[in-house]
Amino acid sequence: MENFNLHDQHVHSHYSKDSEQPLIPYIENAIAKKCRYFITTDHLDLDSPFSLEGDWDIDFEQYIREITDLQRQYPQIKILKGIELGYRNCNYQTIAKRFENIAMDLINLSVHYNDFIDYYQPYYFEKYGLDKTLKIYFDNILEAITNYNDFQVLSHIDYGFKTAYLYDKTTKIENYQEQLQKIFEVLIHKNKALEINTKVQSIFPIEHTDYLLKLYFQMGGRKLTLSSDAHQLKFYQNLFDKYQLLIKNNGFHYLCYFIQQKEYHYSLDD
Ligand SMILES: [Zn+2]
Ligand SMILES: [Zn+2]
Repeated sequence: MENFNLHDQHVHSHYSKDSEQPLIPYIENAIAKKCRYFITTDHLDLDSPFSLEGDWDIDFEQYIREITDLQRQYPQIKILKGIELGYRNCNYQTIAKRFENIAMDLINLSVHYNDFIDYYQPYYFEKYGLDKTLKIYFDNILEAITNYNDFQVLSHIDYGFKTAYLYDKTTKIENYQEQLQKIFEVLIHKNKALEINTKVQSIFPIEHTDYLLKLYFQMGGRKLTLSSDAHQLKFYQNLFDKYQLLIKNNGFHYLCYFIQQKEYHYSLDD
């Protein structure tokens, strides 16, 4: 049994356009929770057709300067470098250039929109129809993980599904099993991890997550991360006990974490 607690691996700070959270309270909280590592995965979403405030870019120079200083200040925890990379078919071949000089520990890949649908907005589900929009959404994820290789984790597979579900609670993710299987197949084949995102999961009944875990496990998927997608300190490691138990009860023996993009395992067995 590890003598440390697994750190949260999907965390936003003031380097994300949609968060104002400073780093110090996060780091002190992670230390208090006996984490050996701390990481932020701020948004890098370039060329969004929907963003009114332009690119969701990161001031990498300031970021590196700040975490270098904080590492000196808090030697009892190792501060890792991460990112949430928003996939976009027009720039996926060049987007990594934006951070090519930084040794990233973890890249979480996510799909928030395509050329004509912002999956955060119910408007598009209404415009194109729920079922059709969800089919396009899962196709976009499949396209992202097929085309792109330089990532370790697929973030919030049910991000777009959540918008549809909030719009119509009778919508079931089971209806997209065929597409989910294709996504899992690619993840497994490419040795990538699937993220269980507690921010999204908290919207659904537990059966939703249970279904995803069972399908992934049946297909041979073993690599998972458990992450909160916190944009504020109070959500750091939110609902971890509940979902860690669910993951364990589905037969998984470990959770993954990443250092220098290399996979390590955190045991779930007592
Ligand atoms: Zn996201
Ligand atoms: Zn996020």
